[in-house]
Amino acid sequence: MTKANPTAPEIPEEVVVCPNCQKPLALCMCEGLVPMANKVGVLILQHPQEQDVDLGTARLTALYLKNAVMKVGLSWPNLAKALGRDADPKKWAVLYLGSASAATEAPGQDVVLVDKKGKALSDQQSMLRGIEGIIVLDGTWSQAKAIWWRNAWLLKCRRIILGPKRPSRYGKLRKEPRKDGLATIEAVGLLLGKLENKPELESTLSAGFERLLSKYRILHAG
Ligand SMILES: [Zn+2]
Repeated sequence: MTKANPTAPEIPEEVVVCPNCQKPLALCMCEGLVPMANKVGVLILQHPQEQDVDLGTARLTALYLKNAVMKVGLSWPNLAKALGRDADPKKWAVLYLGSASAATEAPGQDVVLVDKKGKALSDQQSMLRGIEGIIVLDGTWSQAKAIWWRNAWLLKCRRIILGPKRPSRYGKLRKEPRKDGLATIEAVGLLLGKLENKPELESTLSAGFERLLSKYRILHAG
């Protein structure tokens, strides 16, 4: 398309978003999306300035899961308030942002519980079985860090790190904040698949993410 007057200021197009998934209509993911039952709870805390409307996956992840809560904000007084129900922070694990690496702490493991120094806990299997819920911070690295430091109750939670066996499906489309490099939907998929021993939870979330990425690529191919 040629512009009549190249010096005229560009008027931003108003993007109409789907009220349910909050994606632009061309990327709406709602059709055929059936929420799955998950036993291990999911809490996603999203920084208010997380702006990636097109490729962000926090809300989408929550739509795919019956037992998931997504909150937008900077701080909450405790886990129960963030979650909207009672919960024991010692039985919840936060996806840790620190420098601990699954590759060095527990080679070959894709989901690893670590202590406050970032060292793998000794009794992984029984500890992992005791996890009732997971917390994922969504945003850029600095946004996620801001949430981490503003919510002291996160220190009471277990810490979990990932050693994904494949790189993020984002590829070069987006830089991810965490060392594991995964999108929120991929990280939650990996965690739930492992903690519930239900690979279909991971494969369905991955397929949903692939669907979003292919819609995005089609939209931006022109
Ligand atoms: Zn939608």
